[in-house]
Amino acid sequence: MLEDMNPDKTGFTFPCLAIERVREHPDSTDEDVKLMREYLADANWGAKRLVTALRKKGIKLHTDSIIRHREKRCPCWKT
Ligand SMILES: [Zn+2]
Repeated sequence: MLEDMNPDKTGFTFPCLAIERVREHPDSTDEDVKLMREYLADANWGAKRLVTALRKKGIKLHTDSIIRHREKRCPCWKT
């Protein structure tokens, strides 16, 4: 049962919530996901400001998810 464990993948078992929260929203499109990636890459968008703006759109996200993405600690950076 443990044969498929792989240390390289440990820590990347969770999806990137910053992206997933946008993707799983019923009204979001591929364009929204693309925009979200741009906002995440944009230093003008502070984590708290982005969380507040997203909440107004009905997307609940934690600043930790944004920070995690920006510190490249999420699957987005795994090739
Ligand atoms: Zn990410």
